[in-house]
Amino acid sequence: MPEEDLSQINSLAALEQVVKTCSHCPLRQTRTHVVFGIGNPHSDLVFIGEAPGFHEDRKGEPFVGAAGRLLDELLITVVGLARKDIYIANVLKCRPPNNRDPQPDEIEHCRPFLDKQIELIDPKVICTLGNHATRAVLNQNINISRIHGRPIQSGGRWIFPTYHPAAALYTGAIKQLLIEDFKKLGELLAEDTAPQKSADSAGTEQMGLF
Ligand code: SF4
Repeated sequence: MPEEDLSQINSLAALEQVVKTCSHCPLRQTRTHVVFGIGNPHSDLVFIGEAPGFHEDRKGEPFVGAAGRLLDELLITVVGLARKDIYIANVLKCRPPNNRDPQPDEIEHCRPFLDKQIELIDPKVICTLGNHATRAVLNQNINISRIHGRPIQSGGRWIFPTYHPAAALYTGAIKQLLIEDFKKLGELLAEDTAPQKSADSAGTEQMGLF
């Protein structure tokens, strides 16, 4: 089946209708719900995770389990924002069976939807959560432990990689790193200036995100 031309879509609601009926990769067979994304469609800050898990698949909403509760807690206590203030989505919109890692062909099929979400929301900062989301957005095989907490300019936006909150649930040291990163994220959001469109340094344009 040919994949859709998304160029004429001009709202998140219209895009969601397309994604909800998507059958472009095998995950269509095992999902309960498509998990499109949720939040403020005009937010300066978009979080990107890896893929829905068990609870997200059941509810059709991203980050509703324990990792989501930790994300909400950090947002409120460190950045001073509620979930309704930000937008959150995943690279994959359907759950991989048993929460296995996303496969490259699944990311390839699903990535145009994320590209379009970013285009429509037009945020100042994209915070990638964990290795998989960061690799997909930067289009680089990079380890989060090496680059977390350091903003990267790309096409008029900041990419801000940090750990996935699930990694911090049972490891206090990672939770502390996440808290430090969220402090930097808050500072970045408070800055007046957006990066220059010409200042690409991360190769993200290869993905078509920005
Ligand atoms: S993961 Fe993405 S590409 Fe695959 S079926 Fe779901 S929406 Fe479509």
